[in-house]
Amino acid sequence: MFSLYFHIPFCRKACHYCDFHFSTKLTSVDEMVVAMARELALRAPEWTALGTPSTVYFGGGTPSVLAPDQIAFLLSAVRRQFPDSTFDEVTLEANPDDLDTERLEGWRAAGVDRLSVGVQTFDDAALEWMGRTHSGDDAARALERAAAAGFERMTLDLMYGLPGRSLGGWERDLARALELPINHLSAYLLTVEPRTALGVRVAKGLEQEAPEAAVEAAYSALCEQLSVKGWDHYEVSNFALPGGHAVHNARYWRGVPYLGIGPGAHGFNGTDRYANRPNNPLYLKALADARSTDALPAEWDRLTATDRYNEALMTGLRTAQGLDLNALEVGFGRRPDVDEAREWGDAVSRGRLVPEGGRWRIPESQWLIGDAIASAFFAIQD
Ligand code: SF4
Repeated sequence: MFSLYFHIPFCRKACHYCDFHFSTKLTSVDEMVVAMARELALRAPEWTALGTPSTVYFGGGTPSVLAPDQIAFLLSAVRRQFPDSTFDEVTLEANPDDLDTERLEGWRAAGVDRLSVGVQTFDDAALEWMGRTHSGDDAARALERAAAAGFERMTLDLMYGLPGRSLGGWERDLARALELPINHLSAYLLTVEPRTALGVRVAKGLEQEAPEAAVEAAYSALCEQLSVKGWDHYEVSNFALPGGHAVHNARYWRGVPYLGIGPGAHGFNGTDRYANRPNNPLYLKALADARSTDALPAEWDRLTATDRYNEALMTGLRTAQGLDLNALEVGFGRRPDVDEAREWGDAVSRGRLVPEGGRWRIPESQWLIGDAIASAFFAIQD
């Protein structure tokens, strides 16, 4: 079993804070879809030993720039390469502007059963500041239309830590999100990436990152509001109602291999990882002539056992389920409570690690600094 990820490298407009790979030149969308099916055909023989894809995720970029027949084309390409596949989940990331009823019904007929909608905030001034192309009302109406079109599994993304945003504004975003027909919510802290329009403005002193106290207050409000409404905070940035947990993402966190297709996509075959170069013209040119995977514009990262152990630590501690130390020992021959005993003991005594159900986790109140906590247990390369 493995997961399948399609990176759709197009957006209608660049958001000021975003450093994902995308192009706003939509003229090559048709050609790209054909090239991606071709990459899938080239890579498939090397993946059949791992079984069949059990989840499909269209991420990006903005996958909702693809028409239903293009999504259907890619899903039928998957079934052609892996005839025995049955999908537990097929997710499409979408921007609210693209969610008209015809497209929604078309994607559902094509096999998409879960939508991930990039809302970010319902505040129109903040949306304009971000460079988004929709209003808060547009986003709410789009989710209602999606529910009317039959989507029962929907998630939306919200962003906190926006410069100058008040706590009250963030609380209003949360309240409005929880009125919508969703069963999953992802909330991300805005990170200022240097190679973005926002990064340049911050470097020039024209914008300032949100102060730590404001970020902490927003995070506390997030945890509190969702907990009161019965949502499960199951990963540092992710919340779900019963039955709403993301299957694809949860498998990724558990280290299940994933086949990545498209420029900028990453793949992991269980031991090593590859990254397709994030360049649309280069990708299209390479795929036009490629006869084998050797011709694909990808770079391999040969992961050592230490790399994989450190990743298992990091991803495990980002989930509410936490770490099973015995399983780590069986899988890697080491465990952090023994090999990094001093750091482990220190974290336990400071309440940064707690036992739960035979496993160890970072408590919700400490998750904002979770990556720093986890990295203290990293093994050093031999
Ligand atoms: S945030 Fe999403 S819609 Fe905006 S530029 Fe990035 S990938 Fe595109």
